[in-house]
Amino acid sequence: MTVDSEGIKTYWVGWICSLPEEMKAARALLDEVHQDQAKRPGCSNSFIIGSIGNHNVAITCLPKHTFHDDIIEATVECMTSAFPSVYCILLVGVGSGIPSKVRLGDVVIGSPTFDHQAAIQWELRNTKEGNSFHHIRSPADPSHRLLAALSKFEALRALNGSKIPSYIERMAARYPDLEARYSKSDGLVDILFRSTCAHIDDTAAVVEARRNGYEEEACNLCDKTKAIERKPMETEIHYGTIAYGNQEIKDGTLRDQLKRELGDDIGILCLDWGNTPNLKVPHLVFRGICDYADSHNSQEWRKYAAAVAAACAKEYLSIAMPARISDTHYL
Ligand SMILES: [Zn+2]
Repeated sequence: MTVDSEGIKTYWVGWICSLPEEMKAARALLDEVHQDQAKRPGCSNSFIIGSIGNHNVAITCLPKHTFHDDIIEATVECMTSAFPSVYCILLVGVGSGIPSKVRLGDVVIGSPTFDHQAAIQWELRNTKEGNSFHHIRSPADPSHRLLAALSKFEALRALNGSKIPSYIERMAARYPDLEARYSKSDGLVDILFRSTCAHIDDTAAVVEARRNGYEEEACNLCDKTKAIERKPMETEIHYGTIAYGNQEIKDGTLRDQLKRELGDDIGILCLDWGNTPNLKVPHLVFRGICDYADSHNSQEWRKYAAAVAAACAKEYLSIAMPARISDTHYL
């Protein structure tokens, strides 16, 4: 299907990724891909357009290696000028999980709980007494209608089971090149090390392995006796708070300190980098868990986590989101 400047008015869902791997997964999970022939003076972002169920979707990715405070806001502004009918935004990608409830390959959807908001912004302050984490603000929660659709999504998944495995299976059948890294394989091992057990760098072995054309096992030298024993579990969807900060956490003890000082009672599920999105358009955040915010931060899970997050967002659109039926039908 070819879409011109008039046709773009039928795109009402915006989908924003941070990384090219996330955009690749999103593109591969579209039911149909459309040919974009529209001209957009004044909008510098590139888009992939297509459909998921009854929804026409415009996908874009943040500019590569461009990180500034307002990058998501600027991207949304560009998207809504290019696609004037966009009435909800899904932010879909990977994030760091906070153990022990959340595991690699799970998905966290930023949503309020009885006591806490969907997102919080933290800041790390350095003083003579040491480092300390502070909760500095919380943006508004997702709109009533997006959360109502989330309740429907949760109910239907509980009743009918998850569609995520079948979406990923179909994606792999359609794009065999993606199967090895974007599907779950035996090579993906979920190891949670005790927070005091730091990663032992094996750079020389990794370089040598890549020179010989194969991937060296991550954490090859790390002490597996310091791993926390857990039963294998199926992919789970978690609903709760995502914490945003302006620095990456790659240290198990610092991660535990953050969790403790921002309040264990908040039950932060996921860490994301940057500022909490402050968007004029209603939005919902989906994060596939690719690491535990510790020093054992390999990239092994990143592509699968991107695929799971995209499949989860697709399931949300497919089974729970009402279609836009008129110009007055806003979320
Ligand atoms: Zn390690």
